[in-house]
Amino acid sequence: MKIKNHLLVSIVVVFSLLTGYMIAFAFRHREQGDLVFIIFNIYALIAVVVSFLAVLRRKRLETFKRDISRKRLFYLAKNISSPAMLWNDRLTELIMNDALTELSEMKMRSDFDAKLVVPIFFGKKTLTDADISALVSSKDQEFSFTAPSGMPHDIIWNTTAVETDDDGTTWLLSIGLDLNRIRKMQSELETYSKRLNVSEGRHNLTMELTDVGLLLIEQGNDKLFPSEKLQAMLGLKSDVLTVQELRKRIYPLDVVAFDSHVQTMRNHMRDFIGRTETLELRICAADGQYRWYSYRFKATDTAESGRLVVGGSVIDVTKEKEKDAQIEQIAYEDAVTGLPNRNKLMIMGNELYQCTLELSNAYWVIVIDIDRFHLINDTCGYAAGNELLKSFADAMIRQQNLGGFGARISGDNFALIMRDTGDDDAPAKVVGRIQRVLATKAVGALSNRSLTCSAGFAKMPSDGGSFEEILEHAEFALSSGSKVHGSINRYTHEMHDTIIQESNLETQLSEAVMNNELVLYYQPKVSLETGEIIGMEALIRWKHPSGKLISPGVFIPIAERSQLIIQITRFVMDEAVRQAKLWQTMGLPEIVMSINFSSTDFYQNNICNQIQKTLRRHGLDPRFLEIELTESMALMDIDTTASRMQELREAGIQLAMDDFGTGYSSLSYLHELPFTMVKLDRSFVVNMHDDPVVQEIVHSVARIAAAKQIKTIAEGVETPEQAKILREAGCDYVQGFLYGHPMSAQEAEQFIRNNPRDRKTF
Ligand code: C2E
Ligand code: MG
Ligand code: MG
Repeated sequence: MKIKNHLLVSIVVVFSLLTGYMIAFAFRHREQGDLVFIIFNIYALIAVVVSFLAVLRRKRLETFKRDISRKRLFYLAKNISSPAMLWNDRLTELIMNDALTELSEMKMRSDFDAKLVVPIFFGKKTLTDADISALVSSKDQEFSFTAPSGMPHDIIWNTTAVETDDDGTTWLLSIGLDLNRIRKMQSELETYSKRLNVSEGRHNLTMELTDVGLLLIEQGNDKLFPSEKLQAMLGLKSDVLTVQELRKRIYPLDVVAFDSHVQTMRNHMRDFIGRTETLELRICAADGQYRWYSYRFKATDTAESGRLVVGGSVIDVTKEKEKDAQIEQIAYEDAVTGLPNRNKLMIMGNELYQCTLELSNAYWVIVIDIDRFHLINDTCGYAAGNELLKSFADAMIRQQNLGGFGARISGDNFALIMRDTGDDDAPAKVVGRIQRVLATKAVGALSNRSLTCSAGFAKMPSDGGSFEEILEHAEFALSSGSKVHGSINRYTHEMHDTIIQESNLETQLSEAVMNNELVLYYQPKVSLETGEIIGMEALIRWKHPSGKLISPGVFIPIAERSQLIIQITRFVMDEAVRQAKLWQTMGLPEIVMSINFSSTDFYQNNICNQIQKTLRRHGLDPRFLEIELTESMALMDIDTTASRMQELREAGIQLAMDDFGTGYSSLSYLHELPFTMVKLDRSFVVNMHDDPVVQEIVHSVARIAAAKQIKTIAEGVETPEQAKILREAGCDYVQGFLYGHPMSAQEAEQFIRNNPRDRKTF
């Protein structure tokens, strides 16, 4: 094509010149011959110039066209991220793209010497035609070069001859593959892939461990789409499931929750867009067991179908639920007996109370207390105590299995709720059955003692405005009969007033201890033989802020129930010992100071130490202190009682058996226990004068006691006749209004001072 162009121009020029000369030659003899010659010469010249210009223009056009294509080529190369260069085989020109400029650290300049630069990229100093041909013919050749900064580069060049100029200059486009970059990418890829593997592994692990399944539900479509994992978890055979099919797998107690969820989703799915909610249900798992699953779901309206879709994860939360159950167990179960505790009883009771109101039925609320439990605990140890509680719980559970609800509500207090079937004696019968079971239980050292329990009960809802109140009323009934072991009492409204007074009293009593409202009165003990005062019994009084003097018979039982008794006894002991020592220091005749102990006091572990400390503090000889114990204490566990008493005896302290003849009197105690004095109860004294049997008993007691060097004293002696009979029966001492009422310390002091040796005792 290019050859054709040149030929055409040459032909046109030669033809123009020849034509011009031929015409000029034809007109050479004519006048106008010179003019024609000149005109044709001009024509020939113009033809040559036009031809030349045409050739020139054509050439320019071609160059322009080539430039455009080269630019486009370069433009393409410029924008690729791989290094690229456009150069020619004559090494007269080089155009580098940005990637190569950056990599080679060479700024593009117009004065670039392509001869020097291009060979560098191919790791050479010069490039021969053979090198260039080799570059073009064998593609993908790797070359190394070092950038001015010293950075080595390995590039795989792919060189293509893209164009050849008219002058035979061939333009070459070399596109490189920067191996450094590739290697960097590769290592990054490796790192990523490693990370990817790790996280994928972790993901898989999590999936395996937590059993995360996915579930999709489309609105208006009754179908669920479980993921493969969920299918495996639930043992589903298909990846599509109907709501009904899933419902069949729901635990019966959770079906209501499931149905309500389905209903909500059907009607209000839109409300759940962007809101994450959780539903927890028990579903039959692949192994056929019901397991807890937590479904965390969310609705979206961006699904391809255009429908609302609810999707979420399903996780097996059985373990967490079991933990929750354990926590609930701790919160609602009594650790010793395994029975529900007070918290649970309150929940159940409140629910039942509501039921009774709605359904017009009734329940009995029974509170049962193991008699003298604290003594068992103290004397036989906590293990025996716990054993007894468990035995009791067993007896309760039998009743529970008969349709009741049993709970342990505190230490030795249990509660039973049972349906009222119209028999008002039913609670007493139930407690009677428990009592019979309990009587057969042998607890450690108590095996030779029969165990009893007392109960109080109230009817729900008629006996109170709430379950709490009914339970409280049953407790009232229990405590109102607590003096008699094995008693079973029904709550009455009259009881209420007494109990209220008592509970008010208890609050006030605790303040009385702090406010020094307690005082000691002293009642003399007189020798029947000589009329001398041999001792004083300290009897407590409460000087109520109202001015009333409250008798111990009223507040001591309350104090015993609330453990306030320990504080009270501490006061009595300290005050009585102080007073006894004071009288001695005053030079009054030496007498024995008696103090009364409750069983709670006696079974305190460090009681002997406490007493000795008090004696030492005031400097009183232990033989001047007598402790009065009631025989009921000995009923607990005779061995423990005996050893505790022996301890006190060894400390030199005197021990009196108070109220002998009441309750479970047994003369054997005089043999088994180291008493120094036996106090015949007032009931003997009162009936003595016209009852020869009583007289005989007193006689026997005095005789047995004397044989054991135990002194005998009769309390409540009001008449000289009584005193006379007592003396004849062999009684040593007397105490009663006949000789002196309980009196204040000052009066007692006077009484001792005036102690007449020749006092007539009857
Ligand atoms: P107790 O130890 O048997 O005391 C004898 C009770 O009989 C005293 O009643 C006394 O005032 C009363 N009494 C004495 N002589 C006669 C009499 O001739 N006729 C009549 N009808 N009663 C007489 P008090 O002081 O009311 O004490 C009652 C009970 O309270 C005491 O019986 C004792 O068991 C207890 N008590 C008194 N003070 C204390 C104390 O400091 N601690 C403890 N734990 N109990 C105490
Ligand atoms: Mg007494
Ligand atoms: Mg007494």
